[in-house]
Amino acid sequence: MHYSGFDVYERSVHRAEGSEVEVFMAKDAAGDFLVIAGTDHGFKGERLADGKIRAPLSHENAGALRALFPFTAPGRVLRKERSFGLGDRLGIATPGHIKLFERYDAYPVFAQQSIRELNLTNRTYEDVLDAASFAVFREDFQKGWGADGDHLKTAKDLEYALSLGFTMITLDCSDHIKTGVTEANAPPLPEKYNGKYLGKQFDIGEGIVLSFTGAALGAIAAIYGEAIGFAADMYGRFLKDGRYGADFEISIDETSAPTTPLQHYFVARELIDAGVSFATMAPRFCGEFQKGIDYIGDLAQFEKEIKVHAAIARHFKYKLSIHSGSDKFSVFPAIGRESRGVFHIKTAGTNWLEAMRVIAQLDPALYREVHQYALSAFDEARTYYHVTTDLSKIPGLASLSDAELPGLFENNDCRQLIHITYGLILNKKSSGGSFAFRDRLYKIWRQKEDTYARALERHIGKHLDLLNVKKS
Ligand code: ZN
Repeated sequence: MHYSGFDVYERSVHRAEGSEVEVFMAKDAAGDFLVIAGTDHGFKGERLADGKIRAPLSHENAGALRALFPFTAPGRVLRKERSFGLGDRLGIATPGHIKLFERYDAYPVFAQQSIRELNLTNRTYEDVLDAASFAVFREDFQKGWGADGDHLKTAKDLEYALSLGFTMITLDCSDHIKTGVTEANAPPLPEKYNGKYLGKQFDIGEGIVLSFTGAALGAIAAIYGEAIGFAADMYGRFLKDGRYGADFEISIDETSAPTTPLQHYFVARELIDAGVSFATMAPRFCGEFQKGIDYIGDLAQFEKEIKVHAAIARHFKYKLSIHSGSDKFSVFPAIGRESRGVFHIKTAGTNWLEAMRVIAQLDPALYREVHQYALSAFDEARTYYHVTTDLSKIPGLASLSDAELPGLFENNDCRQLIHITYGLILNKKSSGGSFAFRDRLYKIWRQKEDTYARALERHIGKHLDLLNVKKS
């Protein structure tokens, strides 16, 4: 549809229920904007000659949109059987994700960022939420979607995300999980755990019975005691009374050692006995879930342990949450099967990697510049991540034709190189003080939006297929 100097997104034409106001999204050379016909309903913009309002995609206008069209506000999807986090660090991936989640029987969490990701991308939670709301409006996605304040560690950050309407908090308990505690050096077991756990058999169904030795229990209580207290405190302060309408995820995955089934059981049991209601828990699984590449480790061991973790989650009636779920293709079938199709999976970096694969296809010269810079920035970036990247396994750029560049995204070492340097790439300034890459990258992503959307459909679709998510 062409309309007085701009193009209208067909699917974005919406009339508010029981009112005469009509709102749609359009674009011209300057980018996307809203057009409001009828009463202004709080939208701020310029009045056009025909009386309509042209409103920019500002935070204020996103708020007006969410008030008028509730489907553009995030909802609580974490308690659905299958939910899927899609950390869209760039704020441009949601249209591609929408195409996918319209077809698959799982609920998307389009907005999902940690504070670290916000800092590395120069974004705010306002911006993360608004980008998702505008995309949902533009594409008329009415199924429901969530917003995750991911890996939050402080009361201040919880309040920030919740006050904006985020519908899920992932509480990162890692700063409160004690390291270096062993059965040999654990402090004396607090009396309260003695009668509760020792000498007992915990039948969690499915033929699985768990029991604690005194030494094991002592170590587990010492490692997790403070984290459980922290989670109970945050729950009591922000989630218990339901004033924000948000779900709670307990994350104990950012640790150096895997979470054993006994540890998982203990943490869940203690939280529940403390009155904490949570929708999901993210243990750290055995093996390695490194960023942006497939699982590394003993598959048989993983399958054995996920069976028990899944049974514990079923026993206590919450879902397992799988973090760093980007590209874990070899373990997805076991996760789908053992969870009986009930899970939350988080991805983030893979959406960024697909965006960079698109750059390698569409602008090889720019890709070469970025790649070269990433190599020089790698040592700085790797201090923030646990990765085993071997730069010597990445073919030299000079040896590759332009047509071969997208193939670099099949190379795990290159994937990790580009993955962990994303913040440095996006923030790199040229000598003149402007961004060296950021604006040029966004220009291509915006111009070739369909190419990126198709790449995401294919790549995230592969995740959903291997998890055995059915098409709805
Ligand atoms: Zn995590």
